[in-house]
Amino acid sequence: MQQSPLIQTPLAGCAELDHLLYAALDSVPFGLIVLNADRSIRLMTASAAALLGFSGNVGVSGVPVPDFVAGCGALNRGSLAVLRAALAGEADASSDILLSAQSLAGQRTIAADIRPAGALGWVLSLEDITHTQQTQDWLLEHASSDPVTGLWNRQHFLLMLHDQLGTAAAEGTNAVFLLGLQRLKHVNDTFGLAAGDTLLRLIADRLLTLTDRHDMLARLSGDEFALAVNRAGGRASITAFAVQLAAALAKPFVIDGQSVTLHAHVGIACAPADGDTADALLANAGLALLETTTRGATATCFFDPALNERARARRALAADLRAALDRDEFELHYQPQVDVHRGCVTGMEALIRWRSPQRGLVPPGEFVSLAEQIGLIDGIGDWVLREACRQAVRWPEQVTVAVNASPLQFETGHFARCVAEALTETGLDARRLEIEITESLLLRDTGAVTGTLAALHEMGVRLVLDDFGTGYASLSQLSRFRFDKIKIDRSFISPIDSSVENSAIVRSIAALGVSLGIPTTAEGVETAAQLEQIKANGCTCVQGYFFSRPVPSADVHNLLVRLHHPPVFAAA
Ligand code: C2E
Ligand code: MG
Ligand code: MG
Repeated sequence: MQQSPLIQTPLAGCAELDHLLYAALDSVPFGLIVLNADRSIRLMTASAAALLGFSGNVGVSGVPVPDFVAGCGALNRGSLAVLRAALAGEADASSDILLSAQSLAGQRTIAADIRPAGALGWVLSLEDITHTQQTQDWLLEHASSDPVTGLWNRQHFLLMLHDQLGTAAAEGTNAVFLLGLQRLKHVNDTFGLAAGDTLLRLIADRLLTLTDRHDMLARLSGDEFALAVNRAGGRASITAFAVQLAAALAKPFVIDGQSVTLHAHVGIACAPADGDTADALLANAGLALLETTTRGATATCFFDPALNERARARRALAADLRAALDRDEFELHYQPQVDVHRGCVTGMEALIRWRSPQRGLVPPGEFVSLAEQIGLIDGIGDWVLREACRQAVRWPEQVTVAVNASPLQFETGHFARCVAEALTETGLDARRLEIEITESLLLRDTGAVTGTLAALHEMGVRLVLDDFGTGYASLSQLSRFRFDKIKIDRSFISPIDSSVENSAIVRSIAALGVSLGIPTTAEGVETAAQLEQIKANGCTCVQGYFFSRPVPSADVHNLLVRLHHPPVFAAA
């Protein structure tokens, strides 16, 4: 085998190294340099010379360190200094250094390992780790950041927060803000995923304008952002900042030329009172966020130890609720709806109750929203639908049944099919079924919602807009969807006999119904005076305790008899 021309001429004493050994040294992928005890270069392999850009010759007497370092043409000034220092290190100490070298292929990173070889000298090995380094950098970057917004991801956020909490010198208040954004799903559904991503980037940009370079902003999951800050000024400054965050996010975003307004909620936890670890702070900020979204009223909320108890109770309720459907613990109660002009019962609204062995009779206000949050509403809603149709088919033909549907049931895309199946299975005429939806459904103006409303309409099922006046439904939305009935929310009726404003609102909604050709029902009529007022205001139908509270299905027959004979009040 021929000696490689790039192997530097060995010094005296190495002459016995035969050609085979030269070739072997030269074939290893990393560079190798052998130094004498005085650290002059005794031997250098071709790959070592290539990595360092060393163009000189080792020669018979070796190369002194200053000349060797000066000859490493590929190294930048910083790396030359590092190499010089390492070669001047302690006599028996090894050292690992990183060098930066310029090559035709671009910037390279070289790992150099210098080890003593007994008293004889030193061995310096060199390895090009550019590729490994790049892979590591890529992995680090992608393992720590959110690909959509470029913000930190959950793992990295927790890591940084952990470090920040561990910094003894931190003087201000360490606070974690958890930001929940509702309606992001609506944007994805309406404008597509790319628009959803654009919105996330706009949100990130807007939040970044409010933060300083020490703040840590992360996107934790779909619509959840977290921000960790350290602020002087205690709780007051944290509160002011939270309000600022919520206000910034409440301003509209423009996507595809359309204005989108989000509902932002902020949960806050401060260290050390609300937790002294990153995980505890984030979890408690999460409980505070949950509190703002379930209460709905305020945009920001601080963690409070009582929230732990509420979360525990909520978990217990959720666990019981999950089992309730299988254990057949739900029942429907019915409340009559009375025609103002004819004085007779036209329909019954089905209202769910949960007869829990431990909790007693639980009203829907205590579990429907939780069922929506934990994904149970579909199953429960389907049961309500079938049960209501099954019972209504036994009532007099002119009596309709109204079933409340959660907006989430519309998002599955198979609600219309469930309704059709319930009708077929029970034999109930579609025209005797009313589906009550709330205004919030209209805000989810997705293809699935519109399609489902149209399919129900097509089947002959009547669509009712429930709790009208409490939400955001506008007149334009009323004309876009074809409703068969509008129910005026109870909050306008209860004080109707004492409030001129409420009376005026009811009158104008009733007038709107007349002009659109849609009957209006007043909910929550409790007194004869309210009934008189409702009639005077032009509503076509009433529902409320004045006629009957909701009754169990077994009492429906007696209720119908009582309300029909004689008519509940003289026909107008
Ligand atoms: P809603 O659909 O607006 O039903 C009317 C609510 O007002 C019922 O409360 C009823 O008992 C109550 N109410 C009726 N008349 C009066 C009155 O004169 N005075 C007073 N103070 N209250 C009156 P309930 O049964 O507790 O239901 C509350 C809400 O729960 C319902 O409001 C509806 O949104 C929801 N809900 C009930 N059943 C179901 C269901 O099967 N599925 C879904 N998704 N939601 C349901
Ligand atoms: Mg209702
Ligand atoms: Mg209602």
